[in-house]
Parts: sequence; structure tokens; C-alpha cells
Amino acid sequence: MSRISNRFAARWAAWLLALTLVATPFATVAQTQINYHSNKYKPSDDVKLGRQAAAEAEQQFPLLRDSEVQSYVESVGQRLVAAIPPQFQHPEFRYYFKVINASDINAFALPGGPMYVNRGMIQAAHSEGEMAGVMAHELSHVALRHGTAQATKAQKYALGAGIAGVLGSIFGGPAAGQIAQGTVGVYFMKFSREYETEADLLGARIMANAGYDPRELANMFQTIQQQGGGGGGFFSDHPSPANRYQRINQEAQHLQVRNVQRDNREFIAVNERLRGYPRAQTMAEIQRSGRRYPNQGEPYPNGDRTGYPNSPSGRVDSPSSRFRNYAVLNVAQVSVPENWREVSDSSNSIWFAPSGAYGSTNGQSVFTHGVNFGVAQTSSRNLQQATNELISSLQQGNGNLRSRTGYQRTTIDGRNALAIGLNNVNEATGRPEIVSIVTMQLRNGELLYMIAVAPNDDFANYQNVFQNILRSMQVTD
Ligand SMILES: [Zn+2]
Repeated sequence: MSRISNRFAARWAAWLLALTLVATPFATVAQTQINYHSNKYKPSDDVKLGRQAAAEAEQQFPLLRDSEVQSYVESVGQRLVAAIPPQFQHPEFRYYFKVINASDINAFALPGGPMYVNRGMIQAAHSEGEMAGVMAHELSHVALRHGTAQATKAQKYALGAGIAGVLGSIFGGPAAGQIAQGTVGVYFMKFSREYETEADLLGARIMANAGYDPRELANMFQTIQQQGGGGGGFFSDHPSPANRYQRINQEAQHLQVRNVQRDNREFIAVNERLRGYPRAQTMAEIQRSGRRYPNQGEPYPNGDRTGYPNSPSGRVDSPSSRFRNYAVLNVAQVSVPENWREVSDSSNSIWFAPSGAYGSTNGQSVFTHGVNFGVAQTSSRNLQQATNELISSLQQGNGNLRSRTGYQRTTIDGRNALAIGLNNVNEATGRPEIVSIVTMQLRNGELLYMIAVAPNDDFANYQNVFQNILRSMQVTD
């Protein structure tokens, strides 16, 4: 809390200094003049269009659900927003920053303020300044209203690009070109060289105002090239990174950096967290998978919920060490952590899960953490064949469910049982998860199963709980 208010104070200080800088004629004289392009849209149209595009983008790309990373990126973003020169500030705009769990070195911004920063970009950057450089560049497209300016121009020359074809900008990276031709092309537009240069120059100015060395934006182009982003794709039809590097450094000579930020500790800590996650897919891979993320919540974090209040929040308390007994479908007794709730799924299936770990997606119940007990009727009396049947029926509702282990023999309450581990991608969060299934046959031939689920990166913390639940089972048929 206190850290946030310090930041806020620092931001205002930077802003006031930026004002004085602009008010000093000598300091501004050598800076390149940047003006708005003609635009037949109102700033409120930018907001409306960006908002629609953001809602669409959030259904197509998985957000990284890590509040520490998220709030760090948001704080860097807001520091940059406060450093936008006054003539390019729009009171209607609402800037916010979210992290997409994709590996490309990329970021995109939408008219009116929404910005999406790829995890791959944060991991490729060598410093907070390089990361902030990409964000400042993207922010500049938004502040200069390039999306609607380009639409205005396209319509004037009857190029046929309606407003639907207008929207965000994309920073760079090898996959950007492919994506622009894909189905999300509607909001990834390619700006002219002129617009890109303007975004570089205003971006450099915002960097300096916010206390970053503007040459870090230039350095990021080298970083992208070094990591293989230089060939094809985005850069093939844009000003070459080498030219941009030079031009930004040239401009930087005329900029005075105020309140220099040289503290990379948070940046390093965030990168350490990111390294702990499983490899992210590229945006093109995500596109090809056809997966959707309908329940990622509100594009506008503060109010204006357009989202899905029932989706799992992903904020889950650790399982309590005290357990409570429950009856399961008249065939068993089981103990589960006291802070988990019983969630009825259907008449022959029951869940126990912590709050924040369950919700609904497209009318279907979705769980991120918890255990599910059920009784299934199968055509086979052979335990392994019956379990195969159960898994194929689960796969019909969970297209990404794949086995990760073979069958292992175990017992439930002293009776023969089979265990198998599977991988899945959670339908609501898009996060990879581990699903562990244990089955046994009841006396009437029906299959009793327990399904335990937790995200990959959290599974180790739940393994013991799942074991204890399994051991507590008493079959009463
Ligand atoms: Zn750009």
C-alpha cells in the first residue's frame, strides 16, 4: 500500500518536471515536432472501438494470472501514462495493462487505452527500461490516435478498410506478421513508417519524462534482433530496426531524463517468477489451437464489468489442515479440507473445491483446483476398460485432456483401484493443469471415480492433500 502511494507521488513529481521541461523553450527546440493526423472520429470513438477489440482479444489470448507480475506491469504502465506530454493526453482514455501468456516478443495497444504485453517480451527485455520502451512506443500510437487516423485516411482514399478493420498496433516479433494475416488481423494493423517513426519519437519523449533513458527503447530493437525477431514478419515491411535505433538515439540527445529510474530489482524478481511457469505458446500457436478464453473477466478492471462474474478467479486459499467428513453419493465417505466447499455438479457427481477455484464457462462448471467424485455406468466390467470409457467421455468435454502416465495399481479403502495422470488446459483460465484420476468398481459394477485437479505450477502444493483425501475414503456400497 505504501509503495503504491510513493509511486503515485513520484509520478506527479515527474509530471510536474515534465511540464517545466516543455515550458522551457530552449529545451524543446531541437525535439522533433509531432502533430496529430486528421481524424474524423471523436476520442470517445477510440474508447468504444478499443473496448470492443479488447473484449475480443481477451477471448482469444490467455491472460497470465499472476497478480504480482500483473501489478508490476500496470505500475510501469501508469508511470508512462503520467509522462505523456499534456497535448497528447485525453481525459476520456483509460489506460490499462495486462500480460498475455504468450512467448512472442510482442505487445499491442488498442485505441483509447487497453494494452497487452506478452510474457515473452518481458522475458526478452534486459531491463525495466527496455520493457518500458516497448510500452511507451505502443502508448504513443494510442495517444496519437493512430488507429482512427489510419481509418480516416483509408476511407478518404476509398481503400475499403472500414472501421472494423482498424484498431490496434503491434510492436514486433517474428510471429507478428503471421498473426496479422490470421483471424485476429482485425485489430492488429500495420501502421505506415511515418506513424511508426512518430511512435518511436513520442515514445522516447515519454520515456525521458518518466525517468527512463530513451535509448533503452532503441536497445530493445537490438534485443529483438538478437533473439531472432529481425527476419521476416513484422520487420520486413517496417522501417528497419537499425534505422529506428539510430533515429531514437539521435532524438535522445535532445531529451533530458528526469528522476532517473535505475532500480531493476522488481524487474528481476518478476522475471524469476516468469521463468517458473511452463513454456508459453506463441500467439500463432494459440490461434491455430482455436481455443477461446471466454471467461477471463472484465477488460476494464475498475468497474464496467462486461465479463463473466461466475468464472473462477484463480485466487485460491491454501487448503486448511483440518478436514471435514462428507457423504459421497450414498456410496462412500470422504474427508476434505475444511475450507473447501461441496459443489453439486449433477446427481451422480460432486465436487469439493476452495472458493475462487470454480465457476462456469458457457454454462459448464469449471474447476481450477479441487476433487470430483462420481459414479459412472460403463459397458465393461473390466476395471481398466471401464476407466478407458470414463476417460473418453471426459475427453469429449475437455478437448485438451491427454494422458501423461500409464495406469498404476492402487487401492481405495483396501479394494483394487487404478490411478492415471493426465494433462489438460483449463477451459476458463487457459492454464495447463494436471488431472489425476483414481477408479474402482462398486459391487453393482458401476465405476466410482475420484478426479483431482490443480494447475501445473500449483500441483506440488496439492499432491499431499489429494493423497490424504484418497486415503480417507470409505466405500459403503
Ligand atoms: Zn508501432
